[in-house]
Amino acid sequence: MGKQNKMGKKIRKFKTGANRDTDENKLDYEGFLSPTVLRRFAEYMHKHRIQSNGKLRTSDNWQKGIPLEVYIKSAWRHFIDWWLEHRGNKSREGIEDALCGLFFNVQGYLHEYLKMANLKKKKCDECGNKYREIFIVDGVFLCSRCKKKYLNKRKTF
Ligand SMILES: [Zn+2]
Repeated sequence: MGKQNKMGKKIRKFKTGANRDTDENKLDYEGFLSPTVLRRFAEYMHKHRIQSNGKLRTSDNWQKGIPLEVYIKSAWRHFIDWWLEHRGNKSREGIEDALCGLFFNVQGYLHEYLKMANLKKKKCDECGNKYREIFIVDGVFLCSRCKKKYLNKRKTF
């Protein structure tokens, strides 16, 4: 561990003789995520694949796109279920499903947000101009000027 190669990059050498770059500065999914939580989430997602007509929805159906406001409204319902359970009350589906539902909405919201934020052509939905920096407010793309106007208008209601 800690040895440097010619390029000045740290490498680690295993007893077997194999060597690799060190893990420093690499995203550690194995450490960051919980396998038991992800399995429980997958069970939740699987349960919700069955549609009202009895047919199975594809697992990645949500990636086709769900509006941000749908995610945030659903997140509120699941959050309230979580809170009810936390305070010793009964909720619609119990605390595990409430947490999985919230997890789904958080992931879906972030998925959509990143998709929008990564769009190359950033156009303001209000004025139609293209800008280097675009903000997403209530699921709408706004330039800094239109964002200011929008937020001021909202305050007056
Ligand atoms: Zn604008």
